Order: sequence, then structure tokens, then C-alpha cells
Amino acid sequence: MTIKKFDVCISGSGAVARGLALALSSNGWRVAWACAEQGGQAKAEDIRTYALNSRSVALLERLRIWPALQSASTPVHNMQIRGDGSGHLAFSAWQQCVSELAWIVDAAALERLLGEALKFAPHVTVVPPLAEGSPPVDADLLAICEGKHSATRAALGVDFKKADYGHWGVAARLSSTQPHQGVARQWFRSPDVLALLPFHDPVPGSSYGLVWSLPQARAQEVMALAPAEFEAALRQALDEVDPGASAVVGTLSLRSHVAAWPLALAQAERWSGPGWVLLGDAAHQLHPLAGQGLNLGLADVDTLVSTLTESRRMEPWRTAGDERLLRRYARRRELPTRAMAGVTDGLLRLFADDRAPLRELRNTGMALLDQISPVKRWLVSRALDA
Ligand SMILES: Cc1cc2nc3c(=O)[nH]c(=O)nc-3n(C[C@H](O)[C@H](O)[C@H](O)COP(=O)(O)OP(=O)(O)OC[C@H]3O[C@@H](n4cnc5c(N)ncnc54)[C@H](O)[C@@H]3O)c2cc1C
Repeated sequence: MTIKKFDVCISGSGAVARGLALALSSNGWRVAWACAEQGGQAKAEDIRTYALNSRSVALLERLRIWPALQSASTPVHNMQIRGDGSGHLAFSAWQQCVSELAWIVDAAALERLLGEALKFAPHVTVVPPLAEGSPPVDADLLAICEGKHSATRAALGVDFKKADYGHWGVAARLSSTQPHQGVARQWFRSPDVLALLPFHDPVPGSSYGLVWSLPQARAQEVMALAPAEFEAALRQALDEVDPGASAVVGTLSLRSHVAAWPLALAQAERWSGPGWVLLGDAAHQLHPLAGQGLNLGLADVDTLVSTLTESRRMEPWRTAGDERLLRRYARRRELPTRAMAGVTDGLLRLFADDRAPLRELRNTGMALLDQISPVKRWLVSRALDA
């Protein structure tokens, strides 16, 4: 057996690649990081806020990123979900016996802090991005974290089964005349889904991260609006779905540029093979309505690192690229990912159909679910530990 220069070569520049490089390095693995951005700097203009669950936060704590990120994050204590009728579902940290349901973090700050920590990580060597025709990096395992458009995944001939929703996820930062009180709010109405995530920036205690899923043509229209028109369109959408919303949420003002991402449901047909493995959006993509995409990606990181590290202790003859070992990782991750994708997709489809009986039924279903504490507890535990 020849000794390779690196145990793992990581290809990708996002939060999943960065988290994996740090986690492997802190477990003593020799890492080559093939990233696209100079020196691993994150793009500063990502205005998204991410909802992170407790498993992601625990990983960031172990990577020693959390103390710095926590000061740029907002805890969610309550979650209010409204349907397009009388349907209403409420979750509270107090009822679920947890200190918070999620943390809302700044997407750009997360990537930047991971990049800064990587500068001091032992065993991590930055190498040029992988490109067609360039010599392969001398590593046992290639970990592909290149996001949904991964070229390396395509070059391996792995099919990425994708269904476009025909919707875009519009994101922006807002401030309000009313405090958010740590409440995340979401409204389902055909054809859009609107979420306000409580945040402390730009105005502490009364800002929100907006995620507004709209049919592509309407998303393009709202993105072209002047700030005052955008605010009016948002107010109108809220009033239509929930006439009481403005009184609770307050008057919303746009405090950033508006950006959008095309939304799809996708899953790689294989997650691993001899000497390669997929993580994050390179393996799966889902609608952001449940705020789970990155949580699933960070759970992939956690699982891969523990699978490799466990095997190094118990089966030292296996290298990091051992196919059987990588299948173990894939088996551990495929099922929870499919389950989460199924729930999110099912919810969307339920609210996409505007026929009167279905509308009535889904709102009644929501109201009923709201009364069943064990089911709510189960739902929260799934979301906290994707
Ligand atoms: C509007 C919106 C809101 C969201 N909200 C949430 C949320 O609240 N919570 C949550 O958990 N998730 C959320 N998500 C999902 C989350 O954004 C993604 O799941 C997450 O960014 C995936 O991270 P990644 O590192 O796998 O991929 P990416 O973020 O796509 O990063 C991959 C990076 O690798 C780079 N790359 C590609 N090829 C190469 C190469 N050959 N070499 C080097 N680099 C390469 C790409 O350019 C890219 O920068 C949201 C998504 C959207 C669209």
C-alpha cells in the first residue's frame, strides 16, 4: 500500500467544505482543500439568514466557531406557522423543554468565521481548485462539497435527479416597528410561502431575515421593484394570507438588496464510490421552507468525520477512501435526508393545490396537529437533529 500525501482532498468553497476541513483537521486527518475563492474568503454579499438546529450548533461548538458566531445570531423561542385559512401551528421552546428551537445566523458571517479558523487549522493545505485536465491531488478520498451544480459529481457520471419547483427563494433583510420577541413566522398560501426569521441586525430586537418563495415570474417582478414598492408588495401578501399579521409584525422596511435563488428538489443517485463521497448540496437539495439544507449538510460532515474516525480506531487497515467505509456513511445519511425532503415536498404540494375541499382539509389538519403534543414534540426533535 502506497502512502498518500493527504488523507482527504475536499473540493468546494461553501460552509459544508469549510466545516468538513476544520472537523477533519481537528481529528488529525491530513487535508488538501481545493477551494475556488482566494485564500478561502467567503463572498460577503450573501444576505441570507440561516436557521440552524441544535445538531449544527453542537458541531460549530466543537469546531470552536460558535462563541464568535453566537454574538451574530438570534435564538428562536417560538415558531408560528399559518395556513391560508384558519390553520395554525405553534411551537414553543418552553413546551418542547429545549432552551431554543433554532438559532438564526448570518450566512456570510458563518462562512467568514469558518474561513478564518481554517487559516490556523493544522493539517490543512490549500490547493488550486480541481479542474478538467489538472493533475489529481494525491489523497485517499475526494470529498465533493461543490454545491448543487457540482462539476466533479457530473464528471463521475453520478445522476442528480432534480425536479424544479419553478419557484425562486427571494431573500432580504428587513427591520420592523415592532420587536420580534424571538418568534419565527411562516405563512403558507398558494402559490407562495413566506417566512420572517427573527434577527438582531440591522436593528437589534426588531429585524428579520426574509425568505419568500414565489413563482419565478413573480419573483423577478418583485426583485425589480423600488424599495417602497417591494415593502408594499410584501405588506399586501401578508394582509392577504393573514389580515392580523401587520398588527403583530409591525411595519416592515427593506434594509438590504434583494437576492433570489431558484428552488428545486434533488438527490444524487449515489452518494459514494471507491475513493469519493458527496456531502451537502452536492448530494441533496431541498426547498428552504423547513430551513434544513445546510443543517443536513453539516450533519453529513458530522457523520462522515465520525465514520472515518471510528474506523481508524476499530479497522486501521482501511484507508479513508475505502468503498465499504464510505457506503456506511451514505447509508447513515440517505434515509434522514430522504425523510426530510419528503416532509418538505409533501407540505409544499399540499399547499400548492388551491381547490376548496383541500384548502379546508389542510387548514383543519394543521389546527388538529396543533392540539397533539406528542406529534409536535416528534416533529421538533426531527427538525433539531436533521
Ligand atoms: C433562500 C434560501 C434560504 C435558505 N435557508 C436555509 C436555512 O435557513 N437553513 C438551512 O439549513 N439551509 C438553508 N438553505 C440551504 C443552504 O443555503 C444550502 O443547503 C447550503 O448553502 C449548502 O452548502 P454547500 O456548502 O453544500 O453548498 P454551497 O453553499 O452551494 O457551496 C458550494 C461552493 O463550492 C463552490 N464550488 C463549485 N465547484 C467548485 C470547485 N470545483 N472547486 C471549488 N469550489 C467549487 C461553489 O461555487 C460554491 O461556492 C437556504 C437556501 C436558500 C436558497
